[in-house]
This record gives sequence, C-alpha cells and structure tokens, in this order.
Amino acid sequence: MRTALFPGTFDPITEGHLDILRRAMHVFDKVIVAVAAGIHKETLFSLAERRELVEQSTQGIEGVTVMEFDGLLVELAERENAVAVVRGLRFVSDFEYELQLALMNRQLNPRFETVFMMPSARYSFLNATIVREVARLGGDISTLVPPLVAERLRQRFNRK
Ligand code: ADP
Repeated sequence: MRTALFPGTFDPITEGHLDILRRAMHVFDKVIVAVAAGIHKETLFSLAERRELVEQSTQGIEGVTVMEFDGLLVELAERENAVAVVRGLRFVSDFEYELQLALMNRQLNPRFETVFMMPSARYSFLNATIVREVARLGGDISTLVPPLVAERLRQRFNRK
C-alpha cells in the first residue's frame, strides 16, 4: 500500500488541483490531501471551509482522504506512513521554490520522496489566486473549479 501526501492551501480547490490528484491516484494507492492551516497566509476561506470544499469535490475519487494540518510535512508523512509528497509543476517559475522545498524535506527525512506532476496544459495557467481574483470581479470561472466551489465563490462575492 503506497500512500502519498498532496499538501496545499486549497483556497479554494480548483480543477488544476483535481487534475494532479487524479494523476497521483494512478501512481499511489492512497492520497491524503493535506489542507494547510495557512497561518502565514491571509486566506479567503477558513480552514474548515477549505477542507469541506476539498472533501466534497473529491468524493468521486476513490482512495482519497482529506485532513487538516499545520505542522511539518515530514511528521505527517511519518504518522500516516506516506512515502512521498506530490506537487504540481506548472511553470519553470514554480520550480525554484519547489526544488528548495523538496531538498529541505529530504534533509529532514532522506527516505521521503517528492514527486512532481504536470497538469493538463488546460490548467497550467491556473492557480487559486487568479481564480479568486476573477471570481471577485464577476468573471466566469465555472470551467476552472468544481460547481460547488463556483457557487461558494459567487456567494462569497455576492454575485448572481
Ligand atoms: P495554489 O495557491 O498555487 O493554487 P496550493 O498552495 O493550493 O496552490 O497548491 C497545492 C499544490 O497544487 C501545489 O503543488 C501546486 O503546485 C499544485 N497546483 C495548484 N494549482 C495547480 C494547477 N493548475 N496545475 C498543477 N498543479 C497545481
């Protein structure tokens, strides 16, 4: 049984996250989506809301579990017996930070691997920040996030 962690802020979960998650399910038996408390970031949705949106959006994907976390990723990995962390790579610009993170996690636990996955080109421009911004301005984000998330964003920004 191979378990991986898929950590992030998920503020909110997008089709880009789901694309990576589906790919990860082809490689691992179980993927734990670890929703970060995000104390260093100002988030639009609370931790409980972000977790709930992830849970609802991943209901149809077998092998996925969702949890909140606010500690060291390598400690969560040890607790959950996870062998790897999955991260999405969109642009070269993601790479520098991701490499730093991966090497630090390896320093903390040499047996914990980082696996990078590339999303469909369709989602390679997508991040949660841009989704929040477009939703705030009333733009159509219905193809970029699950329907429940689109609805929640509309409510949050009071749009019809
Ligand atoms: P962001 O705020 O950048 O959307 P998160 O902090 O929630 O992302 O990221 C969690 C993980 O999901 C990261 O590994 C990030 O690279 C990945 N990710 C986010 N959006 C996409 C996307 N559109 N395509 C591929 N990976 C993505």
